[in-house]
Amino acid sequence: MQTWAIANQKGGVGKTTTTLCLARGLVDAGFRVLVLDLDPHASLSHAFRIPTDPPARGSYELFTDPTQMLSRLGRATAIDRLHVCPAQPALATLERRGASQPGLGLALGRSLHAARDAYDYAVLDCPPTLGLLMVNALAAADRLVSPTQTDPLALHGLRDMLRTADMVERSRRRPLPRAIIPTLHDKRTRSGQQSLEQLHEMYGPLVSPDPIPLDTRLRDAAAVASGATLASRGADAYREALQWLLDPISLECEAA
Ligand code: ADP
Ligand code: MG
Repeated sequence: MQTWAIANQKGGVGKTTTTLCLARGLVDAGFRVLVLDLDPHASLSHAFRIPTDPPARGSYELFTDPTQMLSRLGRATAIDRLHVCPAQPALATLERRGASQPGLGLALGRSLHAARDAYDYAVLDCPPTLGLLMVNALAAADRLVSPTQTDPLALHGLRDMLRTADMVERSRRRPLPRAIIPTLHDKRTRSGQQSLEQLHEMYGPLVSPDPIPLDTRLRDAAAVASGATLASRGADAYREALQWLLDPISLECEAA
């Protein structure tokens, strides 16, 4: 099983949308995929219409109850071969409490390891905060995929994110390859174009060649999660981005 952490320390950059679209593409390519909602706001779970009140069993149990198996917490969705492990609001308390509990930084990795035969890919939708959940996701990931909006402020957020990835990489003593997907790109604005150029200048081969454009069809996460085939520029761009991610050459660049 390959684990991809979809992360950026900034909110609203398209993490959840990227998680959904890449997972959908992986399923369409024939893989068995688990998406994990690690954000206490639970947008991904809402997209699959999983009620959070009362909360379903899900990601929270992975950290609090070692007897819970990820392969049983993942539930079927409207999309064949795609399972989702939902988030609960209680994850937020864990984020505050967890830092002092030794060993909790590796809890997610252990659960994923135990589920490695049930899925080909696990895609982790991370919260926009640097805390226990994000650290667990990065510690467990084979790859970091950072969606980044093409605006000047978002570039700062990306720098912070990559610094965090460096830190986790040093402590786990295993490379964490990374890829950057420019999102919500408005090619009509000057700042959008400049930020995109800057991304390519700074991070070169780590950046997906084609940005994900602003696309109203992608605004409705429930539609993306419904199983219907989305025909739109944004959905096409995500299919291209996935092809690029699956290309062994891009992975070599990331690891270099
Ligand atoms: P995050 O998970 O980083 O907070 P989301 O994926 O939830 O970001 O995206 C933030 C908002 O922007 C959501 O309302 C989402 O539906 C919308 N959105 C995401 N990508 C696009 C896009 N390419 N075009 C238009 N709207 C988008
Ligand atoms: Mg989100």
